[in-house]
Amino acid sequence: MEANALADASRIKPPLNPDNAWWWEMADAGKLGIQRCSACQTLRHPPRPMCGECRSLEWEAVEASGRGTICSYTVLTYPQFPGYQYPLIIVLVDLEEGTRLTSQLVDCDPADVDFDLPVQMSIQQDPDGFKLPVFRLAGR
Ligand SMILES: [Zn+2]
Repeated sequence: MEANALADASRIKPPLNPDNAWWWEMADAGKLGIQRCSACQTLRHPPRPMCGECRSLEWEAVEASGRGTICSYTVLTYPQFPGYQYPLIIVLVDLEEGTRLTSQLVDCDPADVDFDLPVQMSIQQDPDGFKLPVFRLAGR
């Protein structure tokens, strides 16, 4: 595969289903969603049909602040898949609301990433229009 084919390819899209499509629709609208149990108010991520605390199937979506801290991270350099720019900094973010999610840290030198650093969500739009919540170091 030629280098240009790597750069021009599009990102692998998530498979959408009735349990997660709402989350991606919020991302498309520029928001970071968290699922909240309507019965006991417990927040959960990733999206799933049943509350792990009270087994309720009733839930609603709330918008996260997008603020959090880096709980853990890894820097991926190989293997390289089409549609991604390497090195990829993959972060596990503790959102201030109390849930965690895996995402990408962008606009950051891999040497500058560390545990507990504050981060802020932003929406990245790929050339094909696909929108993805990513994170940047807070204040940058
Ligand atoms: Zn519940």
